[in-house]
Amino acid sequence: MGQIKVLDENMINMIAAGEVIERPASVVKELMENSIDAGATKITVSVEDGGRKLISVADNGCGMDAEDLTLAFESHTTSKIKGSADLLGISTLGFRGEALASIASVAQVRAVSRTKDSLCAYGIEIDCGDKGDITPCSGDCGTTIQIRDLFYKMPGRRKFLKTANTEIGHIIEQFIRIALANAFAAEAAKLDMTLIHNGKELYRLAARQTLHQRIADLFSSEIADNLIETESSEKGLHIFTLLGKPDISRTNNNLQYIFLNGRFIRDKFISHAIKEAYHGILEPNRFPVVFLSIQIPYSEVDVNVHPTKIEVRFYNANLVHSQVLGCIREKLLSSNLETGGKLPATSGGTEQIAATTSPHGRSQKIADAMAEFFQKYRPVQTQQLSFSAESRAEKSQTTYEAAAEYPAHSMQNGKKFLQIHDSFIVAETDDGFAIIDQHALHERIVYEDLVRRTSAGKLESQKLLIPEILEMTDAQADLVKANAELIEKLGIELTPFGHQRYAVQAFPTIIANAGPIEFVRDLLDLLDNKEINSDSGKLLDEILNMAACKAAIKAGQKLSDREIEQLLADKDAAEYAARCPHGRPTTIKFTISQLEKQFKRT
Ligand code: ADP
Ligand code: MG
Repeated sequence: MGQIKVLDENMINMIAAGEVIERPASVVKELMENSIDAGATKITVSVEDGGRKLISVADNGCGMDAEDLTLAFESHTTSKIKGSADLLGISTLGFRGEALASIASVAQVRAVSRTKDSLCAYGIEIDCGDKGDITPCSGDCGTTIQIRDLFYKMPGRRKFLKTANTEIGHIIEQFIRIALANAFAAEAAKLDMTLIHNGKELYRLAARQTLHQRIADLFSSEIADNLIETESSEKGLHIFTLLGKPDISRTNNNLQYIFLNGRFIRDKFISHAIKEAYHGILEPNRFPVVFLSIQIPYSEVDVNVHPTKIEVRFYNANLVHSQVLGCIREKLLSSNLETGGKLPATSGGTEQIAATTSPHGRSQKIADAMAEFFQKYRPVQTQQLSFSAESRAEKSQTTYEAAAEYPAHSMQNGKKFLQIHDSFIVAETDDGFAIIDQHALHERIVYEDLVRRTSAGKLESQKLLIPEILEMTDAQADLVKANAELIEKLGIELTPFGHQRYAVQAFPTIIANAGPIEFVRDLLDLLDNKEINSDSGKLLDEILNMAACKAAIKAGQKLSDREIEQLLADKDAAEYAARCPHGRPTTIKFTISQLEKQFKRT
């Protein structure tokens, strides 16, 4: 007898649920998308215990009549497509007709819905696929769906749910994606959206708020205030984007949001275009904050390639890549990327980027600096002198005296040095001279110091006179709790300070000149990075790296002679001073014999 059996409908739905419904956040996503497809202008999401106990989504959309309400929970039932032709131009968020059936097969569901023509609402209850009767009941126009005890009959799946804090973190992320997608979608009116957890309101976003205000509410005003807006409309592609300035860059790409026709997506072509566009504007290990929305004809993209529709297939991916890259790059190159006076004092604008981007620009800068140096310290007489042996002696005499006018430019051992462009130090060596990148070198020195101190115990810290307050999501607060020991070891004291806020009370002395808020924010990003945090050694190293970078002397910072002397002395004492912790060189050396060869003296 054959082995193959036709699965019953509930089994089919449970299997589908395995793909679509991973955790409470997936339920929230599916229900919110249904509300948007139903034309709602107001959605209230209320969850308990991270959605493990209850998820309720209420909208004021078109509602369902009694007949649709029963059908909605059957598998493969949808009002959004009628025939195969519709699949070629999907404009709704849903279309697969399996979300409600999947959810109802793995939880207890109660749905109440009313259309605007109906005198009353209708309700239905389903318990893990076991459907009750439709009953008339009271209720406003629109739909409310409540999901209780997700996976309660599937201990295997239930076990994989994480703590309420982690689950609400995922729900918040879905809520943010939908709130942003809605704010960016050109044709859609903005929604009034609320998210409540355990009776506490986490977000209330008003329909009439500006995009700037919405981003400030969802993230922070610092992020909202540091975005550059640009738009392009070419070759059937409309791109609207908000580009984060380098000051608010991150250690991961969590704050890159890409939307396609009002749907949050992940796309490797677009991510790559963003990375390329910021090339040379950000350090290689930093990620820009970017909000990007693309409107493209529905026929130009296939959204039916992934069960949760997070990935799509562009029919002309190269075009999308080049348009996104061009649009962003052009804007960045023509923008002044300085903000809040935190960056080193440079001229800004296009030339600045061009100069720091290309390797050629960098060497040109050094060459200019060298030229300026020799111009400045060349004694006037040498120009009139001929190069006789005698005059050479005279010249060197004069040069020495000129240098002697700046006694502090010599070290105790008699070697001369000079800071150029407030960024590089030119120092005499036994057999020539060296050019030192002051930031890279100091970064290495601070890093080694941090490694020594953390391996010996905890970093010494100092109390802040005025505690600095930072906002955190519940997921971040979770990270703080989970990593309490590490945070203490770093000499950081963080205490809760009201709703979703923490105060930095104490901060490590050795990195005192880094901003505590910025530091803690980047620390949280590292703690949240799965690739890094799975290995505690690597995690600590990344943190110390980041700390060293923040605390080190910056390029563009004027140093006193004493500071330069100290830096050079520390260089000699350092274990591996040649490269900064990221692997870039700290020092470029030149020998006299090299110079002689270049000047054709030998
Ligand atoms: P899909 O969204 O892919 O069509 P679902 O299983 O999510 O599939 O929903 C099935 C159908 O139920 C939808 O096509 C829609 O007609 C109806 N429906 C679901 N949620 C709502 C809602 N909040 N308001 C009105 N109708 C809804
Ligand atoms: Mg749906």
